[in-house]
Amino acid sequence: MVDRQPRILYVEDDPSSAMLVKRILEAEGFGVVIAEDGITALEMAQQINPDLVLMDINISGLDGYEVTTRLRSIETLQSVPIVALTAATLKGDRERALIAGCNGYIPKPIDVDRLPEQVRSYLSGFREQIESAEEKSEYLTEYSRRLVERLEDKIRELQKAHEELQRIDKVKTDFVVLAGHELRTPLTVIYGYTQLLLADPRIPGSEEEEGSPRYLIAQVAKATQRLSQVVEDILNVSMIDADRLELAMDPVFLDQLVQSVIADITSLAPDRDLTFGMEGLEDLPPVMGDGRRLHQALWNVLSNAMKYTPDGGRITVSGRQVEDAIHLKVQDTGIGIDPEERERIFERFYVLENTLLHRSSKTAFKGGGLGLGLTVARGIIEAHGGKIWAESPGRDEQRLPGTTFHILLPLPASP
Ligand code: ADP
Repeated sequence: MVDRQPRILYVEDDPSSAMLVKRILEAEGFGVVIAEDGITALEMAQQINPDLVLMDINISGLDGYEVTTRLRSIETLQSVPIVALTAATLKGDRERALIAGCNGYIPKPIDVDRLPEQVRSYLSGFREQIESAEEKSEYLTEYSRRLVERLEDKIRELQKAHEELQRIDKVKTDFVVLAGHELRTPLTVIYGYTQLLLADPRIPGSEEEEGSPRYLIAQVAKATQRLSQVVEDILNVSMIDADRLELAMDPVFLDQLVQSVIADITSLAPDRDLTFGMEGLEDLPPVMGDGRRLHQALWNVLSNAMKYTPDGGRITVSGRQVEDAIHLKVQDTGIGIDPEERERIFERFYVLENTLLHRSSKTAFKGGGLGLGLTVARGIIEAHGGKIWAESPGRDEQRLPGTTFHILLPLPASP
């Protein structure tokens, strides 16, 4: 027996049984911790290192036999007495429990008067065993067969659940795509009308004069454009998820592409003091790709470089041919990315900044986004058979270590 108060882990999914046993044993000076299912029991056992485990056999999920076998495989728990509790008193239950790794067996309903004594005897070293080797091997075979059958059932259940999830996921994607298309049309109409109004000289005021009719219309136009971009991003991610991104393939010259992306981005943020550079792009052979999509992918990467680089910084796009691919690098002198975030930033809706502090801007320093930009960029690059990844020494807003995005785009096979 241990000197301090003995700790008992009681695995039981029925709360009233759990409470009853807990009370009885606590009244006798034992410490009792309850685990409601097998997985919790496995975690708790490793945390609290119990002196004894009382194991209800008929629990849902992993059953008591399986939990026992698993507990026995944990080094620190190999010699802890595990006592099975079960209401089903079929022939062979005792042997099954012993084969699974239990040291004894207490039938349910529990005899409350005897329980503390039974527990004490196990704590002082009492162990039950199967004597006959023949019997032991018979039960072992039966137990292994049962485990495999349970595993088979579980795999079938998982397969079914997986198919159901795929179906639900498709319904969701179909809905998002449909809703996206439905939203797109009225947004285009609103934006079109704002442009018509702004072109009308009868509209008084100016776009800079706050509160004037022209200013108000310009604000509506801007908000509509932003909303269209959000809808577009959501649509794109859904198409990428569903493998429905359609590409119109043509030869694409990367120097022209990068130049037009840079021109686009800088025109959106004339107030940002950033230098853009291009290196080694003129001599590259064209890749086969969807120019509009590739523009979008690069736009997302470059607008991030802009958002996460403070004023005074530099953003360089360089390219070179490596065997049968073009290797593009988008390098910035910005705040950088921590190593553990480098993959996660490509996940959908993943943003590192505090979303409560979001300035909804595509270009301002640390301006917030939906966290879809890189998901879309990766989807597009991968649809082209390419790869995209990020490299950075870490995030540091003072030292500005910078980030480099690498993009590999395959070249068409030579004839
Ligand atoms: P968002 O719409 O928020 O820009 P993205 O998917 O484009 O979403 O980017 C995800 C996150 O990756 C950003 O919130 C940002 O924290 C980080 N990130 C992306 N590019 C850079 C970069 N060049 N430098 C530092 N952090 C970056």
